[in-house]
Amino acid sequence: GELSSHEIIALEHKYGAHNYHPLEVVFSKAKGIYVTDPEGRTYMDFLSAYSAVNQGHAHPRILKVLVEQAATLSLSSRAFYNNKFGDYAKFITEFFGYEMVLPMNTGAEAVETAMKLARRWGYEKKGIPANEAIFLSCSDNFHGRTISIVSMSTDPSSRVGFGPFTECVGPVCPVSKNVLRYNNIDDLELALKAHGSRVCGFLVEPIQGEAGVVVPDEGYLTKAYELCKKYNVLFIADEIQSGLARTGKMLALDHENIKADILILGKALSGGVYPVSAVLSSKEVMLCIRPGEHGSTYGGNPLGAAIAVTALTVLRDEKMAENALAMGQIFRAELQKEVENSDSIVEKVRGKGLLNAIVINEGKIGGRKGAWEVCLLLKKYGLLAKPTHRNIIRLAPPLCITEPEVFRGVEIIKRALDDV
Ligand code: PLP
Repeated sequence: GELSSHEIIALEHKYGAHNYHPLEVVFSKAKGIYVTDPEGRTYMDFLSAYSAVNQGHAHPRILKVLVEQAATLSLSSRAFYNNKFGDYAKFITEFFGYEMVLPMNTGAEAVETAMKLARRWGYEKKGIPANEAIFLSCSDNFHGRTISIVSMSTDPSSRVGFGPFTECVGPVCPVSKNVLRYNNIDDLELALKAHGSRVCGFLVEPIQGEAGVVVPDEGYLTKAYELCKKYNVLFIADEIQSGLARTGKMLALDHENIKADILILGKALSGGVYPVSAVLSSKEVMLCIRPGEHGSTYGGNPLGAAIAVTALTVLRDEKMAENALAMGQIFRAELQKEVENSDSIVEKVRGKGLLNAIVINEGKIGGRKGAWEVCLLLKKYGLLAKPTHRNIIRLAPPLCITEPEVFRGVEIIKRALDDV
């Protein structure tokens, strides 16, 4: 017979590394915004696999391509050509208005790729002296889990016990030792003024997802972009979580009408069926890396390539950015009523489109309870969400959610907040 949720969790706990702290719910089936567990309980998914299933679980058009392409050709490696990558490369570069794409698989790999590209461009085009390139990022960032990426982290749980770290990357300027705070344009200007001739790239999340859906002030990204232009620094956007219609535009940067010099995508680029990530840029940047200098066995594989074309087409055809914008407005307006209700434990609601979070006032909730306890109640009432910190809950359903479903989600959230 089938294993129960309890047995499945026990198996994972015994044999799987303990590198996550999951909420105790087992996914055994999913469709659209709904997830079913082995006991047949159904939940609304308000995490969307960290925004990888923007198109909804098991999207029929994406599944069709997955199955057909898997049966035809799945992997050539780039030792040879395959008949899908070229198509995909043309499609995605035109889709986002870039000249070239470098295909990878996971988000972290794409970020690493952007770091290497920026350093190489810094030496070859900008003329930074050998081994002196500085790669700037922001405090409270989340870009993945590799050594060079956690070298940029300011979160102790990402770093402690994993040193020594990659040099000259991150929010701390290696020369002045100043920290570059997110959403603080003066910090960036100070760093560039002091050491701009050594800086190759500035990496930023247009909205910081893992930090708790932190939306920068309007104009911050534009000013940061302009500073990068002034100091001949590549402006690099990590849109792995914020991109692909999630915030109500195809890219979160579209809200400010700026175009990154290097754009990093992942997660929903495959609609949640397969790992696909991408780095997009100009020829000037991309051609700094030559044959044999970077790559990945699975990067640009025909299965991922065919899936990504369809995943992007679905976002566009089904107007998912427009829906995210409209549903997000309703969702935040409803939750804002909680903020204004003085009995409520909600301190703040923030976000864009369908990338949102509620911040819980821990003073009001008292003692040992927090976002985790709210999420347990949400689960009990049929909605899945995960805390990003002790007091923040991210709320990010698939972008195919309908208005009645938004209202039902709000009802469940209000009930959980009242009952905790
Ligand atoms: N960058 C951002 C903004 C992310 O949110 C994530 C994942 O949560 C990553 C990078 C890393 O992606 P992956 O987990 O596929 O390596």
